[in-house]
Amino acid sequence: MTTAPARPKTSADWIAIEQSTFFPNRRPPVVIERGEGCRVWDVEGREYLDFISGIAVTSLGHSSPVVQRALAEQSAKLIHISNLFYSVPQLELAQLLLGNSPFDRVFFCNSGAEANEAALKLARRWGKKHRDGAYAVITAEHAFHGRTLATVTATGKEAYTRPFAPLPEGFPHVPFNDMDALERATDASTVGVLLEPIQGESGVHVATASYLRDVQDFCRAKGILFILDEVQTGVGRLGTLFGFERWGVEPDIATLAKGLGGGVPIGAMLARESVAAFEPGDHGSTFGGNPLMCAVAHAVVSHILENDVLGNVQRVGGYLKRALEALKAELPIIQTVRGDGLLIAVDLTAERAPDVVRLGIEEGVLLNATGPTTLRFAPALNITQTEVEEGLARLKRTLARLDAPETKTPAAG
Ligand SMILES: *Cc1c(COP(=O)(O)O)cnc(C)c1O
Repeated sequence: MTTAPARPKTSADWIAIEQSTFFPNRRPPVVIERGEGCRVWDVEGREYLDFISGIAVTSLGHSSPVVQRALAEQSAKLIHISNLFYSVPQLELAQLLLGNSPFDRVFFCNSGAEANEAALKLARRWGKKHRDGAYAVITAEHAFHGRTLATVTATGKEAYTRPFAPLPEGFPHVPFNDMDALERATDASTVGVLLEPIQGESGVHVATASYLRDVQDFCRAKGILFILDEVQTGVGRLGTLFGFERWGVEPDIATLAKGLGGGVPIGAMLARESVAAFEPGDHGSTFGGNPLMCAVAHAVVSHILENDVLGNVQRVGGYLKRALEALKAELPIIQTVRGDGLLIAVDLTAERAPDVVRLGIEEGVLLNATGPTTLRFAPALNITQTEVEEGLARLKRTLARLDAPETKTPAAG
């Protein structure tokens, strides 16, 4: 008989397990055990303020009572039944999302990539029916749409696609915020345009006020689809239920995921009736629209709409942005501050963003670097101004430590 090994205790013990079991990964050395609101604690009991919320996912904070209650109630009733049968939570969630948007049809799935994959398949299906088989979807440089073969091709980042060639056809890229380039790239094969209102993963690059409106008008004039990826910007992140409301546009198709389930995995693809080209059997998902996930998402979205969470995003997001701008006036390492609502980025004058993430952990704040010079802030939508102030004090202490030579990450090799 073998005895079970002792359960690991420290972060280092757990990280040793990761290194012998996972495909190679890169993440800062902290093992989180529990969370409450905007705070989390690691396995050694240290507390952190969370400024990234699982990449804009835990929209109502960690272990939100809203999420807990929905999970408890629905899990006691029905967890899974598949789409072989109808179930109530997915129908209620459909009504809630469609009743608060310009869309008429919804498809539920489990992630952002799947929501975009569904949008791309719907666009091609629509192209076959209505546009002589047009199939190409124009996307923007520095976009992020997911990691499946189609969505990573739509993403277009060489580092993400090169190891997986050959890639599917029909994903031309144009510079973001450049209308002329989009017009030049459009031809008879073009079925639509897919954009993020704010490019989140590449560092919070915001579409100009006129760009999304011009793209919408151009798509309408050409009779092609205007598709917005709201996986990161949707469900209140920008202070409106859908990010596109900030630009006064209404796409033909939009996708949601990240914040939709408040921490549980769920995605959705929403479309207008005029583009709803799927026939029975064209697309599907075993877990998509799972009663447990839909009940949670319904509770999360209802809570956001009924408790002025959107107002909180506008107020506290505005405060965070102004406070970061004030910090910029004080600290030369900060070059620019940009973003909207609670999706904000800071560019540094040096390639120190990964150092800031690592030192931030020592100072008790969870941050995210989207690249060598860029930090992204995407806290829970119900974060308070007091919590933001506390997190910023920790950030300031972190940035002050950058001058010390021992804080510099040694060159790899
Ligand atoms: C995160 C993200 C995705 C991919 O979502 P996954 O759930 O990781 O598949 C797609 N589009 C945007 C804009 C995102 O931010």
